[in-house]
Amino acid sequence: MPIAGRKINFAAGPAKLPEEVLLKMQEEQLNYAGLGLSVIEMSHRSKEFGALLNETITLIRELMNIPENFEVLFMQGGGTGQFAAIPLNLKGNHDHADYIVTGAWSAKAAEEAAKYINVKKVFTPSKPYVTVPDQEKWVHDENASYLYYCANETVHGIEFTPTAPESHNVPLVADVSSNFLARPFDFKDHGIVFGGTQKNLGAAGLTIVIVRKDLIGKEQAITPAVFSYKEMIANNSLYNTPPTGGIYTTNLVLKWIKEKGGVEAIYATNLAKSGLIYSIIDESNGFYHCAVDKRYRSIMNVCFRIDGGNEKLEAEFLEGATKRNMINLKGHRSVGGIRASLYNAISLEETQVLADWMIEFKKTHQQ
Ligand SMILES: *Cc1c(COP(=O)(O)O)cnc(C)c1O
Repeated sequence: MPIAGRKINFAAGPAKLPEEVLLKMQEEQLNYAGLGLSVIEMSHRSKEFGALLNETITLIRELMNIPENFEVLFMQGGGTGQFAAIPLNLKGNHDHADYIVTGAWSAKAAEEAAKYINVKKVFTPSKPYVTVPDQEKWVHDENASYLYYCANETVHGIEFTPTAPESHNVPLVADVSSNFLARPFDFKDHGIVFGGTQKNLGAAGLTIVIVRKDLIGKEQAITPAVFSYKEMIANNSLYNTPPTGGIYTTNLVLKWIKEKGGVEAIYATNLAKSGLIYSIIDESNGFYHCAVDKRYRSIMNVCFRIDGGNEKLEAEFLEGATKRNMINLKGHRSVGGIRASLYNAISLEETQVLADWMIEFKKTHQQ
């Protein structure tokens, strides 16, 4: 049921949260579990908060089907913090790491990592980012510390599908910030899977890092304690004050996903949502155009241009969308055009409102 005054928020992140989660937070805000205070006022060392934290870890493990030999850590500093934490923690005796650069976020990750490890790119990235280049031609190195990739490029709408890159016997490191629990995930060959929660799993401020146990303990001496996986594991993510409100929000979002039928059910809805918008694009005779290679189109961030990048028409489209209660559809400033972020909390009904507007807009503007 739509709630009066609420907009349909297609933001890329921070993004929409399920109404059920927001209502639960509202209900519990003044008095959580009969304790007479809210979660964000509680001691992170209290028994009750400890139970909430452990329950959240159990829920992630269950929903994502995380193998036993991985630890789940709650950290801060966002996905961006991990761009540094990864080479700091994993370098060990290796002199370099391999990077797959398929868009803005993996490019940023490679740039940051270069402060702490030699970065080798497995292919020379070419702009505009629209595809994942042919894997056969990548230059790999089995001596690399790890092979890094971004599972979903939020800015460019490019998603690694249906499988992760070939690992070539080094641990894969995956940034899942914008497709966390949006589709089933296979941990095979992975060493680290990480992401901020503000797109699919909650509020800004919490970063979930899932680390394979055998990779822990190789950190560089300069690693800040708050970025040390070893330190975090030793303290069950309570080395210092964690983002308690963020953990609470994610706890509620995970329960919501479970109620919806888990990741398989969420994935089916995500396919229906993105399929609806892509089919309108593909059947528009070029009026709408998505530049991304069809094999790698994101089911989360659908990026498209109107009338070959006609900025006047695009502005008109956005204005009309706003009038129809839809917000945050403007593409990233580096790409332009339109970006509809269809994260887990966006319903099929809300996506249908966008689809209807796209059809109507095309009818009145296509020559
Ligand atoms: C948003 C995003 C990030 C950065 O997250 P911050 O929390 O702002 O550091 C990193 N990677 C991807 C794929 C993202 O979408």
